[in-house]
Amino acid sequence: MIKIIIGREPESLRLKLVSGKTTKLMGEPGSVPKGVSREHAAITVDDNDRIFVENLNGSNVTFVTGKQFDIMKCEVGLGDTLFLGQCRFPVTVESVVHSFVKAKVEVSHLEWIWNDYNDFNLKEQKKMQRLNLWRTVSSLLTTTAIASGILLADSLKGNNPFKYLYGGALVIMFGITIWTFLQSGNAEKKRERLERFQEEYSCPQCGVYFGMMPYKVLVKRGKCGNCGAQFKTPQGNHRNYPLRH
Ligand SMILES: [Zn+2]
Repeated sequence: MIKIIIGREPESLRLKLVSGKTTKLMGEPGSVPKGVSREHAAITVDDNDRIFVENLNGSNVTFVTGKQFDIMKCEVGLGDTLFLGQCRFPVTVESVVHSFVKAKVEVSHLEWIWNDYNDFNLKEQKKMQRLNLWRTVSSLLTTTAIASGILLADSLKGNNPFKYLYGGALVIMFGITIWTFLQSGNAEKKRERLERFQEEYSCPQCGVYFGMMPYKVLVKRGKCGNCGAQFKTPQGNHRNYPLRH
């Protein structure tokens, strides 16, 4: 369980969050009105990740979105906004909670995105390998035809059956040319596929692109390098914070 006390820092007039021995200040100096007490309200996150807000003093007033009445204690969600004091100074529950508890996000859908993109790349690579194979065959035929003319010129006496290899090489080169022409839209397709991947293979919390880090490595790392959001492990059975939409 974690308890975060929310109040006004009296000198800078910034929002002050205190949990245990850690103090964090939020917002611009002078942004918090005097209607907010030094220790105004507290948010607790219990072991089941349920979030509660309570007034720390009977004379304090705290409103919660959707309920629009002042509270002494109630359960809230990450999407809720607290309004402190009669001046209704707004503070989102998420900003308070995530100052001390890193968000937990579901990333299992990234496995499919990763595999799908790599399958696409593998197919493209195989296509290029086949193309290179045909190029090799074509030049092998040409080389054999030329070599036979040089090496076997005396024994074949002008009747060289290997000359037909030129024909085979010609047919293959013609095929490669047509294939290359048909594939001319392929670069565009590849670029679009990469762009889609860069958009999809990203942190659900902050949207940063995970690059070419394989899904398995990502899961092993356990959290987003950018925003610190923790990845929900597939075998985890604890309740997680709802995702931000
Ligand atoms: Zn992130």
